[in-house]
Amino acid sequence: MNKNLPSYYKAAVIIVGIICFGVALLVNSTQALRWEYLVLLAFAVLVAPRLSLTISRSNLILSFSDSIVFLTFLMYGGELAIVTAFVEAVANCIYLKRRGVESARWFILFNASLASIVAAVSFGVFTLVSSVLGLDPARTTTRSIVTTLGVLSLTQFLASSTFTSLYQYLRTATSVWETWKKRCLSISLTQFTGAGLAGISYKLINYADPVMIVVASVGLGFIYMSYRQSIGEVNDAIGQVEDAEREKAETERERRVEAERHAGQLTRSLQKEEMTNAALRKSEQDFQYAALHDSLTNLANRKQLGDILRKLIKDYKGNPAISFHVLFLDIRRFKNINDSLGHTIGDKVLMIAAKRFVRMLTEVDHVARIGGDEFAIILRNLSTVGKAQKVARRIFRSISQPFSLSGNRISITVNIGIAPCDAEYNTPEEILRDADIAMHYAREKDRGVAVFSKDLRERFLERARFEMDLRHAIERNELSMHYQPIVSLQDGHLIGFEALLRWHHSEVGLIPPVKFIPIAEDSGLITPISVWILGETCSQLAKWQKISAASKDLIVSVNISGRHLETNELVDDIELALENSGLDADSLKLEFTESVAMENAEHTINILHQLKKIGVQLSIDDFGTGYSSLSYLHRLPFDTLKIDRSFVNAVGENGENSEVLQTIISLAKNLKMRVIAEGIETVEQLNLLRNLGCDYGQGYLISKPKPVREAERMIYERPNWLPFDGIEDYDPSRPSSVDANLPVF
Ligand code: C2E
Ligand code: MG
Ligand code: MG
Repeated sequence: MNKNLPSYYKAAVIIVGIICFGVALLVNSTQALRWEYLVLLAFAVLVAPRLSLTISRSNLILSFSDSIVFLTFLMYGGELAIVTAFVEAVANCIYLKRRGVESARWFILFNASLASIVAAVSFGVFTLVSSVLGLDPARTTTRSIVTTLGVLSLTQFLASSTFTSLYQYLRTATSVWETWKKRCLSISLTQFTGAGLAGISYKLINYADPVMIVVASVGLGFIYMSYRQSIGEVNDAIGQVEDAEREKAETERERRVEAERHAGQLTRSLQKEEMTNAALRKSEQDFQYAALHDSLTNLANRKQLGDILRKLIKDYKGNPAISFHVLFLDIRRFKNINDSLGHTIGDKVLMIAAKRFVRMLTEVDHVARIGGDEFAIILRNLSTVGKAQKVARRIFRSISQPFSLSGNRISITVNIGIAPCDAEYNTPEEILRDADIAMHYAREKDRGVAVFSKDLRERFLERARFEMDLRHAIERNELSMHYQPIVSLQDGHLIGFEALLRWHHSEVGLIPPVKFIPIAEDSGLITPISVWILGETCSQLAKWQKISAASKDLIVSVNISGRHLETNELVDDIELALENSGLDADSLKLEFTESVAMENAEHTINILHQLKKIGVQLSIDDFGTGYSSLSYLHRLPFDTLKIDRSFVNAVGENGENSEVLQTIISLAKNLKMRVIAEGIETVEQLNLLRNLGCDYGQGYLISKPKPVREAERMIYERPNWLPFDGIEDYDPSRPSSVDANLPVF
């Protein structure tokens, strides 16, 4: 609907209303100036609006406006009724506005115009009806008055309600009938009451004497007053009800506000609870994460690895095509990194190693940290163990790329053991155990990578058994020392012995040191065993030194393990052994293999200096196999250098391959060390070494290592150890050649 329509309607009503008013005024201008009419008009303007009664909570307003309009009609005709309706409506609107009634634009003019139009329509309808019905224009009878008022009030009601409904429809699109029912029916009462009042007033004015008028007026006034009072009381009561309702509404509003406040609090506490729950959930997730991950590297931990392996073992049993390989890795000499560079650097090294492992694998593989420097990798989708070996070798190569940390250049290497999946595995522990066995083998053999086999397990079990038995070897008297003579290559006299450990296992028999010393080192048993060796050998030598004047300068060489050197107890253990045996410190020589001495050279230098302070002699063993750094060699306070027997063995019958020997001997001389050659097995080797200026020698040619009693006999018999004519071993029955055939070298 056009939104301007209500305005057009208003304008049209105003124009038509003013025309009606103007025409009516012009037509009856003389009558309009009569004083009786002016009194009536003054009443309409000044009094009537004030007499209207409004009934609270209803649309009902009992007003006297209609009565005055009807009365004017009866007394002065339709034209002046139109004028009265207009003027009275203006007065009424002004009165209402003053009383604060809200009004729209053109409120006064529109209502006044509407009133004049309604009056004009009523007048027109009445003129038509009266000409049809032939009504008495003088209205002398009550019947004609009632008919007139009836027609007028009905017409007035219909016209005004129609105009009002129409306006409402244009304004709010409310149906005309609805508005008419709701708002207009109730005003019909005021119209008819107004008509009745007008009829009574007309009668009184025309047919009653003054007394009667006064009495009637007083009566009407009285009725009006009591009616007004009762309406006032009704309004008061309604007011009270309204107050009560307002109060109730206020209470309800307050309750609503309170309820909303509670709801707000509830929402807030629910939000808080939700937050607490979220925090709980998060900490639960964190907890779960921590339970399955290694906190340092963020890799899976042993628990998670176990879960994954359990599933893979199950899948493999269901479908052997789904193969997998488990790699067990440990970082070589990680303890050294921790000890020398500190745990913070150690942690960083582990993190770097973890990152490198992850980078080298595919998404389907798994990496886990399962111990201090131990990692495990599950390789999937590799059809053969050869492929797993290839990956392991790649890891082995890549992990050793040097990197720098806090100014330290670090290079790490790993030992890797591989266990291929097998139907015999039922638990993750079993497959990890076998990968670990392979890793130990790789470490022992210095191979980098080794694949598990059943033989390895046998070997491992044997080792485990040896380890167990070794723990009790000392108390069971299964350990003993053999002594191999070391002689001067210049004059053949006995310098001393190298003490070599022997284990006579009660069931297995003699076990060679190369087999059990690594087990003793791995298990940490080497230190107590070494203490025992030191005690044994020092006491033994102290005894032998007392045999004769020739034996008082004998020395004993004791091999010291790298594991013992790592500890801070070595110096104390040596002092104790010397003290207990009463042996002079310079009669004891300690042998450190070259690789052990160079492993942690700074530490070695420190310990060796402490040992030198005690007065013991120091020898570097197996020289030539351990990649010595010359700068360190220079700083290590060794007295003698023992050439590894492989260089001696390499010398042929005609002195071939002697260059290395020559180089080592001159190096030792330059470093002001005495040189010992070990493993001399032939006369040619002996002769060559003598010619090269090697100071001392030991080997099967001179004597194999001997048990105490036999070694002791040698001291007593004092054979001349040189020369040899192809006799491989010392033969006590052989006549000493010392005086007879001392060869000229
Ligand atoms: P090593 O210290 O280099 O000892 C020399 C080894 O060479 C000895 O082997 C000795 O019997 C052997 N040998 C000596 N001359 C000859 C020869 O002419 N030909 C051949 N083929 N071999 C010869 P053994 O007694 O089996 O000891 C092997 C290694 O075990 C030792 O090498 C040493 O590293 C270690 N070892 C032996 N006893 C002890 C010990 O009491 N403590 C420690 N920590 N290690 C020991
Ligand atoms: Mg040795
Ligand atoms: Mg040696």
